[in-house]
Amino acid sequence: MPTSGYIGYLWDDSFRVGHRHQGIDIFGGGEPGDTPVYAAFDGYLSREQDLKSSVIIRVPSDPLNPGEQIWLYYTHMAYDSGESLILADFPAGSHEVFVKTGTLLGYQGNYSGNPGNPTGVHLHFSIVKDDGTGKFLNELEIDNTLDPSPYLGMLLNNKENGVTPVYCLP
Ligand SMILES: [Zn+2]
Repeated sequence: MPTSGYIGYLWDDSFRVGHRHQGIDIFGGGEPGDTPVYAAFDGYLSREQDLKSSVIIRVPSDPLNPGEQIWLYYTHMAYDSGESLILADFPAGSHEVFVKTGTLLGYQGNYSGNPGNPTGVHLHFSIVKDDGTGKFLNELEIDNTLDPSPYLGMLLNNKENGVTPVYCLP
């Protein structure tokens, strides 16, 4: 589990008609910068140049499907202004930095992608499929993501567990 808090939105939850949530939203409570976010599994961290609040970690071999590459996507790690809450160890433009399970990556924030328009303080975490050529697919499409339930050992999809929140600890 990459952080602590209430899992307020599950995988495949719907925020509006036609929408399907591609990950889980973990609400730590408190202020932006209070709740640490850790690498959930060993892998290689990249942070695109223009991303203030997001990192993606490449896992070369899916622990549940050995040999398949998967990607762990973490976002909302910034203040509502867009000031980043990702550790200085991982500046914008970081590429393929090895991190061990449990490495501190940053803190939960409330950046929505639109400065001055905060969301609740949380981490959005998703497991993204590889395109087969060593790149991640678009994480905004649920078909490009995996149900996190078997990875995290909790019922985290809306089909099997429609009752939220679910409490978790890292
Ligand atoms: Zn989310």
